[in-house]
Amino acid sequence: MRLVLLGPPGSGKGTQAALLKDRLNVVHISTGDLLRAAVAAGTELGKIAKATMDAGELVSDDLVLQLLEDRLGQPDVANGYILDGYPRNLAQAKALDALLSRLEQNIDHALALIVDEEQIVARLAQRASEQGRTDDSESVVRHRLHVYAEQTAPVVDYYEAKGLLARIDGVGSIEEINQRLMDAM
Ligand code: AMP
Repeated sequence: MRLVLLGPPGSGKGTQAALLKDRLNVVHISTGDLLRAAVAAGTELGKIAKATMDAGELVSDDLVLQLLEDRLGQPDVANGYILDGYPRNLAQAKALDALLSRLEQNIDHALALIVDEEQIVARLAQRASEQGRTDDSESVVRHRLHVYAEQTAPVVDYYEAKGLLARIDGVGSIEEINQRLMDAM
């Protein structure tokens, strides 16, 4: 099973992916986590990405595609994966299609979590106090939501046009939302 999980920052993609990976016996691939690990490790790529991430902007398509391609080359993806945070714009969606066709793979479902903006700002304020992510301050969160609306929302339509999309109400308990995702597949 290969899934794309879509939704604005704070919509619960990471939380839901962590549950789904165990239920489906697949791996969770978060490009945000891969980037944060590169920043923490002080790699060249991490150094380039850090300022962009702190500003709530998208890291360059080439850098993120390279990270993703390396990750998809690892043996643990054989049973499938959940992509969380990728693709983030239409160019990435097309690059993913090209990469998957080279790998002779395809996406089974694209699941979009729907949560309204005020709820998201409140959730991310909570996450900022719990996890101390440098991009969870209110002004950066508002900017990330703007980037989502401008660049990532079209990706939802892209998967809808392919007939792969399900929209899922992302408000409720973690278990309820998880069940909605399972039911949609
Ligand atoms: P996330 O953990 O998915 O919210 O990602 C945190 C930050 O990492 C984003 O605000 C971007 O700066 C960067 N990032 C994560 N995934 C991507 C991607 N697919 N393309 C570009 N930048 C990304």
